[in-house]
Formats: sequence, C-alpha cells, structure tokens
Amino acid sequence: MASEPKRRHSKGRKRTRRAAINLAVNLVACKNCGKLTKSHIVCKECGFYHGKDVSSKQKVKVTKA
Ligand SMILES: [Zn+2]
Repeated sequence: MASEPKRRHSKGRKRTRRAAINLAVNLVACKNCGKLTKSHIVCKECGFYHGKDVSSKQKVKVTKA
C-alpha cells in the first residue's frame, strides 16, 4: 500500500507555499537597456542576453553528410 499523508495541509499553508513560488522569480536589470527582466531569460525589450543581441540569430541546422 502506498503511504498516505496523515493530515491535509491547511488553506493557509497551501497559500503560503504558492505565494512563495511567485516570489522566486529573480528580476535583474538588463545590461543593454536597463529594464527589469527575468534572469537567465532573453530581454523582451531589446533581445539581449549576456551582453549580446541574440534576437536576430537563427538556429544553425545540423545536416548529416
Ligand atoms: Zn534589454
């Protein structure tokens, strides 16, 4: 038999946990335009990531000979 939780989590405990999920998003200022963006995600305003413009780059297709 699978183990079961002994007590259900209260509404407050559930809401406290879910509130912390949104707080975990890390905002940093973009190095190019200075706007707040999520870290480790390409800037929505200017398309820069780690000081480089990555918006115009196209993915290089790998073809087998
Ligand atoms: Zn930017």
